[in-house]
Amino acid sequence: MVGVPHKINSIITRLLEGKVALVTGAASGIGEQTVRLFAENGAFVVVADVQDDLGHQVVASIGSEKVSYQHCDVRNEQEVVQTINFAIEKYGKLDVLFSNAAIMGPMTSILDLDMEEFDNTMATNVRGVAITIKHAARMMVAKKTRGSIICTTSVAANLGGAGPHAYTTSKHALVGLVRAACSELGAHGIRVNSISPFGVATPLSCNAYNVEPSEVEANGCALANLKGIVLKARHIADAALFLASDESAYISGHNLVVDGGFSVVSNSFSSF
Ligand code: NAD
Repeated sequence: MVGVPHKINSIITRLLEGKVALVTGAASGIGEQTVRLFAENGAFVVVADVQDDLGHQVVASIGSEKVSYQHCDVRNEQEVVQTINFAIEKYGKLDVLFSNAAIMGPMTSILDLDMEEFDNTMATNVRGVAITIKHAARMMVAKKTRGSIICTTSVAANLGGAGPHAYTTSKHALVGLVRAACSELGAHGIRVNSISPFGVATPLSCNAYNVEPSEVEANGCALANLKGIVLKARHIADAALFLASDESAYISGHNLVVDGGFSVVSNSFSSF
């Protein structure tokens, strides 16, 4: 809307007015920014994470009855069930699941792969997401909600060498999980999509490489295809808002890559 100040524009177009969303991995990084954007857009939001102090801080800083914290380790099916029940008891329904929690795991050679670490990455990034989809979809089907389920994958879902081996494996698997869930849940009017971000300076990426946020961003800018812009968690939140809202009403089974073209471009032959 040309000429309409941003604040007024966002009041006019609150894309999630009255919707109820559950965000996992919501105490930090991309999840936290998405909680804030969903709340700005009129949603009731359950903030779910294992970092309880940070999660409570996010809720307190938003300062609205419409946003609540719930401890939830996505590896624990009972805790996921309790969290979804909490959303229903508090807000009456579940329209949106943003299944975003993940770990990166250690950066090791495949020759030294630690199978316990591999299992833990898969348990969090794949099995944990599957548990959230299972129980969110059960609730949506039972309540006949035309819901939206969104998972966070990564450029490492499309490429080798963009993360640790277990992480890359887990994110490739998630694309399959999203397509499989999409194939069944379409009959119930439920959409299932994913978002594949390029590198964002969050605790996940900073801790994995043991660097400051500024270094993650400098490295990302150097590698990026799209120049003149720094990728922020808010850009990923914008993609989640689009997929959560009716703006994407006929989009399902899609992996929305937010990487400025990084994963479809090779500069190997570039001579200009
Ligand atoms: P982050 O570390 O800031 O946030 C991840 C959150 O997940 C943390 O709050 C953490 O406590 C939570 N979490 C971890 N294990 C959990 C569990 N078992 N149960 C519940 N919560 C758990 O990192 P982020 O970068 O915001 O990561 C969010 C998503 O984005 C992840 O799926 C990640 O793989 C993906 N991603 C990140 C990047 C990046 O460069 N930061 C790039 C591509 C994809």
